[in-house]
Amino acid sequence: MTYMSTGTSLGDWWFSSGSRIGGMSVRLHFLGTGASIPTKDRNLSSVVVRYDSELVMFDCGEGTQKQMSIAGLSLAKKMKIFISHMHGDHLLGLSGLMQSMALLGREKQLDVYGPRGIMKFVDCVNDAVQFNPTFPLNVHEIRAGRVCDTRLYEIHSAWVDHVVPCLAYSFVEKPKPGKFNVKAARKLHVPEGPLWKALQIGKTVRVRGRMIRPRLVVGPPKPGCKIVYATDTRPCDETVRLASKADILIHDSSFDSSLEEKASLDGHSTAAQAARIAKKAKARKLILTHISARYRNPAVLLRESRKIFPKTAVASDLMTIDL
Ligand SMILES: [Zn+2]
Ligand SMILES: [Zn+2]
Repeated sequence: MTYMSTGTSLGDWWFSSGSRIGGMSVRLHFLGTGASIPTKDRNLSSVVVRYDSELVMFDCGEGTQKQMSIAGLSLAKKMKIFISHMHGDHLLGLSGLMQSMALLGREKQLDVYGPRGIMKFVDCVNDAVQFNPTFPLNVHEIRAGRVCDTRLYEIHSAWVDHVVPCLAYSFVEKPKPGKFNVKAARKLHVPEGPLWKALQIGKTVRVRGRMIRPRLVVGPPKPGCKIVYATDTRPCDETVRLASKADILIHDSSFDSSLEEKASLDGHSTAAQAARIAKKAKARKLILTHISARYRNPAVLLRESRKIFPKTAVASDLMTIDL
């Protein structure tokens, strides 16, 4: 796992535990890490998982398309967008993003997922500005559960504890086939070519009248990565369940401990509360996000969280993480 940031360096611990996992490249882009109001340093909520040639976006705060352009993320790519809840700082970037996609002649389908209200929002805005997409646009109103299932990954959602209905999401990469043992295949007289391929994707093949099962030549499947995005929310058990053993938990950390009462009233978490959730969930890494504009320097949030969960980082805009 490698880490790049426009902000402060994290030190060696981040690099030293990058033991996973091989396979398809996964890069996390933090496009907006601020709470409620954009600041000079922090745009509004948006995180992108770049997976192979696809973009999976969580939230699309105002200004997200500009952040994408700075981050070098193309508007033409295969893409899905998952909105957590119907607060402006998490979805007002959607219409501008779609308009730019159309101006650039996007043809690939775009899928937008979110809680109840997302369809009305997209319809109203598109109707008011007389926007006709150049691409197939599918808007899905979803609840908790497995909301997306592809050949390579699944997205799960869970209701978390905000002041309006709010979904947290997990990106779960499917296990990848184990290592192919060439020596074993040759010893069993399996000729190179289509039969090797068949064994690699789990099919039994027949060679010289003998059935060869995949487990004779393919190692155990490798686990995929799991990334969980949970904001805006108070600390809650649903997040613990969704984030169980996640490689990375990205969690609401709007305030420090002195503002715990305010955090609770507003439906948010403190850094220490986020840390307790990461610990309970046995997550590997915690990234604090949705940082209130009052923290020009978020050192207090980092300190409070690391006391409870040492493998914490504070997100900064345009920070990336390779898994
Ligand atoms: Zn928010
Ligand atoms: Zn909110």
